[in-house]
Amino acid sequence: MPEGFRVGLGHDTHRLVAGKPLILGGVTIPHDLGLAGHSDADIVLHALTDALLGAAGLGDIGELFPDTDSRWAGAASQIFVREAVRLLAASDWRVGNVDVIIHAEKPKLSTHKLAIRDQVAILLEIQPDRVNIKAKTGEKVGPVGRGEAMECHVVALIESKKNTA
Ligand code: MG
Repeated sequence: MPEGFRVGLGHDTHRLVAGKPLILGGVTIPHDLGLAGHSDADIVLHALTDALLGAAGLGDIGELFPDTDSRWAGAASQIFVREAVRLLAASDWRVGNVDVIIHAEKPKLSTHKLAIRDQVAILLEIQPDRVNIKAKTGEKVGPVGRGEAMECHVVALIESKKNTA
C-alpha cells in the first residue's frame, strides 16, 4: 500500500481547426474553431490524465490509449480520466487537488472556468474547491499566441488512502 503524497505533471497541445467543436474539460465552448485530434482532442482532460498517471507512476495516456487504436477515435476524453482515477484507486491512491492552466489566445475563457472546474471535479470525484482552473493567452507569440493551437498544463497531487482525510 502506498504512503504519503505524490505529484504529477501533465501537458498537451492540439491544433485549432475549423469544423470541430471546442471541448475543454468536458465543456463545449462556443467558438469558430475547435481542436483537432484522434479523440475529442480535449487538452484539459488529456493533460489531467497524464498528470494523474504520472503521479502514480503508471506511465502516460499514449500507452493506455494509443491513437493507433480505432476504439479511441472520436472518444469522449472523460473515458481517459475515469480510467486513470480507477487505476489510481486500485493502487490505493486518491486525488488530493489539481491545478490547471489552459493556454488559449481566443476565446476568453473567464466565463467558462467555473463550468470546467465543476466538470473536472465530478470526473475526479472530489470537491470543486480541490480543482483550480487558470487561463492565459500566448501574448500573440508562438503557436498559442498566433491562434494555431491551444495547450494545457496540469499539476496533480495524489495522496495515499492511508492518510487521514
Ligand atoms: Mg491530446
